[in-house]
Amino acid sequence: MNILFMGPPGAGKGTQAERIVEQFGIPHISTGDAFRLAMSQGTPLGVQAKSYVDQGLLVPDEITNGIVKERLQAPDCGKGFLLDGFPRTLSQAEALDDILASLGKRIDHVINLVVDRDLLLGRLTGRRICKSCGATYHVMFNPPKVENVCDKCSGELYQRSDDNEEKVGTRLDEYTNKTAPLLEYYSKKGLLREVNGEQDIDVVTSDISHLLRGQAE
Ligand code: ADP
Ligand code: ADP
Ligand code: ZN
Repeated sequence: MNILFMGPPGAGKGTQAERIVEQFGIPHISTGDAFRLAMSQGTPLGVQAKSYVDQGLLVPDEITNGIVKERLQAPDCGKGFLLDGFPRTLSQAEALDDILASLGKRIDHVINLVVDRDLLLGRLTGRRICKSCGATYHVMFNPPKVENVCDKCSGELYQRSDDNEEKVGTRLDEYTNKTAPLLEYYSKKGLLREVNGEQDIDVVTSDISHLLRGQAE
């Protein structure tokens, strides 16, 4: 099953992706994670991406499309994949259609996590990530059992440098201007499904899971 997760920063895409890929046994492909890894390793890709990510701006399409193209060709994508945070522009969406067509694949579902803009700042500034395994927590809404320690791997938690009020403002503007128009693109293709992302994390997971399994919510 080939799935896309859409939604503004902080909607819960990463949190839900972690759970859904476990249920369906498919790889989780996050362009944001790919950029952060490259930046932490100081690779050429990381150096190129850094100035954009640090400012809360989208990385240019040519750079981003290249990563996804390469990743989707890996053998583990044979039984499906979950793309989280890509595409984010119309030109990325068109590039994705071309990449998939050349691989003889297509998108089966686009899940849009709907969360009111007012809730996103609090979600993003309270977000904490595991340095070792990438698991996502929230200081209030999804705290680890021991403060700053990952439940899954005992790794240390950190706060992303772009999860502050100033960068969040820029990121939400980028979303509104460049990414939100994609919803119509997928709606016209009959692929878009909306899920209320303001519910408890478990309820959101169960709604997504039912949609993907083709049952009523
Ligand atoms: P995204 O990948 O869409 O940017 P995340 O999955 O990282 O979003 O979630 C952003 C923050 O909000 C994280 O700290 C996460 O723990 C928290 N969060 C995710 N889903 C919910 C929810 N349904 N209710 C409350 N907090 C949530
Ligand atoms: P969030 O879901 O919280 O916005 P991500 O981890 O998906 O965060 O993305 C973090 C940053 O990585 C973005 O602000 C942007 O700079 C870059 N990025 C991630 N995905 C893309 C993409 N598809 N196109 C351009 N830039 C991207
Ligand atoms: Zn961990």
